[in-house]
Amino acid sequence: MPRKGLIFILSAPSGAGKTTLCRHILERCPDMVYSISATTRAPRPGERDGVDYHFLSLETFKEKIETGRLAEWAEVHGNYYGTLRDSIEKTISQGKDLLLDVDVKGASSIQTLYDSCILIFIMPPSLEVLRSRLSIRGSNSPEDMARRMKNAEEEMAARGIYHHVIVNDTLDRAITELSELIASYRRKGSTDYS
Ligand code: ADP
Ligand code: 5GP
Repeated sequence: MPRKGLIFILSAPSGAGKTTLCRHILERCPDMVYSISATTRAPRPGERDGVDYHFLSLETFKEKIETGRLAEWAEVHGNYYGTLRDSIEKTISQGKDLLLDVDVKGASSIQTLYDSCILIFIMPPSLEVLRSRLSIRGSNSPEDMARRMKNAEEEMAARGIYHHVIVNDTLDRAITELSELIASYRRKGSTDYS
């Protein structure tokens, strides 16, 4: 029987660069599977339904909660986000390693449900840099921006529950550190955190 897949959970304050880092990891590791979350948030320019997220109406999202289709869900920055139970279980039971991008609450819920989790927190170099990355990315109203900055401080304060913390300062350096970390677990094939 193949070993169960490992679950790599990435969290970071919004704008710290986890989407960018996930894309690079998936390019380098095409055999890893990205967990496509469901969300009620509107797509950003360039985001595709079924690729970046499953973009759902509030009604459909609530139906998924009620029918137990979500392993976890959370309200983040005024929108709902959730991880589909089937996609996690199908992937890891096939022995494939999974990459998830979820908030701190989601990371902690998934860790209690599955025993093959490696939690990695991505830090911005500073709050000033975070603000500037959020404004360069655009698509956030001033209210949304203020909410994301406030949440950033709370999320960074929770980084102690993660097994590893990586600072996304220079993109190339952070990609190398993250991909080496992931590769080391995949070589071991276990959550031996040492
Ligand atoms: P998140 O998914 O954590 O919200 P993104 O990956 O969307 O963040 O990154 C936010 C913005 O910062 C994007 O415009 C991205 O291109 C940029 N960015 C990401 N990492 C870096 C980096 N190391 N240096 C400079 N800009 C970065
Ligand atoms: P964004 O709107 O910037 O794509 O994501 C906002 C936040 O929602 C990020 O912290 C991201 O990690 C989190 N998020 C994305 N998908 C999920 C999910 O399925 N569950 C949870 N709990 N959080 C998620």
